[in-house]
Amino acid sequence: MNRKVAIIGGGIGGLATACLLAKKGFAVQLFEKNAQLGGVCNSFEAEGFTFDMGPSWYLMPDVFENFFKLLGENVADHLDLIKLSPSYRIFFKDTGQHYDFYSDLSRDLNTIEILEPGGAAKLQEYLKLSEMQYKIALQSFMYKNYDTVFDFLNKQVATEGRRLKVFSKMNTYVEKFFKTDEVQKIMEYQLVFLGSSPYNTPALYNIMSHIDFNMGVYYPRGGVYQIVRALHNIGEKLGVEYFTDAPIDRILTGSKRRVRGVRLQSGEEFSADLVVSNANIQHTETKMLSRPHRSFSDRYWKTRTLAPSAFILYLGLKDKVPGIAHHNLIFSKDWRSNFAEIFDDPQWPTDPSLYICAPSVTDESAAPPGQENLFVLVPTAPGLKATEKQLAKYADKILTTIEREIHIPNLRERICYQRIFWGKDFTERYNNYRGSALGLAHTISQTALLRPNNKSKRLKNLFYVGANTNPGIGMPICLISAELAYKRIVGDKSASHLEVL
Ligand SMILES: Cc1cc2nc3c(=O)[nH]c(=O)nc-3n(C[C@H](O)[C@H](O)[C@H](O)COP(=O)(O)OP(=O)(O)OC[C@H]3O[C@@H](n4cnc5c(N)ncnc54)[C@H](O)[C@@H]3O)c2cc1C
Repeated sequence: MNRKVAIIGGGIGGLATACLLAKKGFAVQLFEKNAQLGGVCNSFEAEGFTFDMGPSWYLMPDVFENFFKLLGENVADHLDLIKLSPSYRIFFKDTGQHYDFYSDLSRDLNTIEILEPGGAAKLQEYLKLSEMQYKIALQSFMYKNYDTVFDFLNKQVATEGRRLKVFSKMNTYVEKFFKTDEVQKIMEYQLVFLGSSPYNTPALYNIMSHIDFNMGVYYPRGGVYQIVRALHNIGEKLGVEYFTDAPIDRILTGSKRRVRGVRLQSGEEFSADLVVSNANIQHTETKMLSRPHRSFSDRYWKTRTLAPSAFILYLGLKDKVPGIAHHNLIFSKDWRSNFAEIFDDPQWPTDPSLYICAPSVTDESAAPPGQENLFVLVPTAPGLKATEKQLAKYADKILTTIEREIHIPNLRERICYQRIFWGKDFTERYNNYRGSALGLAHTISQTALLRPNNKSKRLKNLFYVGANTNPGIGMPICLISAELAYKRIVGDKSASHLEVL
């Protein structure tokens, strides 16, 4: 008999783990609370527009390729990837200036040199180190499960880490290379993808610049949700059984510190030889397990640094708007106080940084002919409160900023569809702790060995996968997380990406 696995949650990590285990011969059943698979990587259709609800940057194509290959599949057979050009456009607030970046050094070095004389040479030096660290990260510690400090601090990490000062804070690391506010921001903005701030994140995440400047930004035609469709199709081929609208209420425990299955909110029970939870770990622990079976105390969760939540506007516009690229970033003037309003002194950002995605610039299927699909995201503190009226007022403030900074006259009159999605929705829809969009931030004390392990401390056959365990936040990172959960389950202790299952 094949060993039976119950996977709780159909986010990227859950879907990917289902594929790996099914390919290895496990009998896999996956239970998703919502009607549609994908977790925060979701999509919906309204009035002819197709909105990706969460992720929009397809980064680290090498990790996607590795993962698909492991399943005996090719990315190109599932996703029609477009390399974006420009990769993104940056607007510096109140300056009227914007700059395009292409993930092509023959163009980007000139732009950096304009922003900071001497910056081009510095960027080359910075990226050389960033690339080297990316390679070390992938070869030595991203694909490795940690149990003790010695699993993490091998000789190379210890010596190189000290030499490169990758455990110092990101902002101090960046300041050593670049002097202008603008270029520092360009080296640091990617941290928001990791749910972190340059003032609380280890400098080892400067690898994001290699990913950004050297590897490029891609978009799967038809939308990012195509990734979920691909994982679902592969899983179906491998025999995974999917249950949607199937919220799990309880992880069932038996004797000898073992789990024996799951119970749905409907009361129906499913037996399993092992359980992998892709649902938010805080939710899994506090709602599905009794106290003696939890790995973490209430105090542990209360003292965690959460990644930002997000105030999102899904907008359908009646016509095309000039002056926007596929990805657009508007940087707040005072970076430090903007991050402080997210991490230290939670409040609705007064001078927010904004991200605007316009997939219809690249992909006709995202909007009806001649119209524009906009996804506007404001990173906010987790746990904020607001009434409907306050949310509408905040939306208005954001739209005014976009009108002014990107020069889109009458943006508000052009809107034919609008939906707001924010912290409360992240909790209600996905059971995310305190409405964080992303999970646990990548602070020094929540990285690697110090991030929740993917194996329960109390129950021998309960595992975790997804953004809240290692390596952390991001779609490709959750694919790695699935490989780590797989390794944990089959007892593989290797440090690098698997070539075969
Ligand atoms: C707005 C936004 C923008 C982002 N942008 C990017 C980007 O551009 N590029 C990128 O790579 N990454 C991006 N990310 C991050 C990336 O999307 C996430 O890190 C990743 O998708 C999280 O996957 P996960 O495996 O942790 O699962 P999640 O997406 O967290 O899914 C967990 C699943 O568990 C389900 N669940 C919860 N409770 C239960 C229960 N009781 N029973 C059954 N099921 C349950 C939930 O409904 C959910 O489907 C973004 C995220 C957000 C929110």
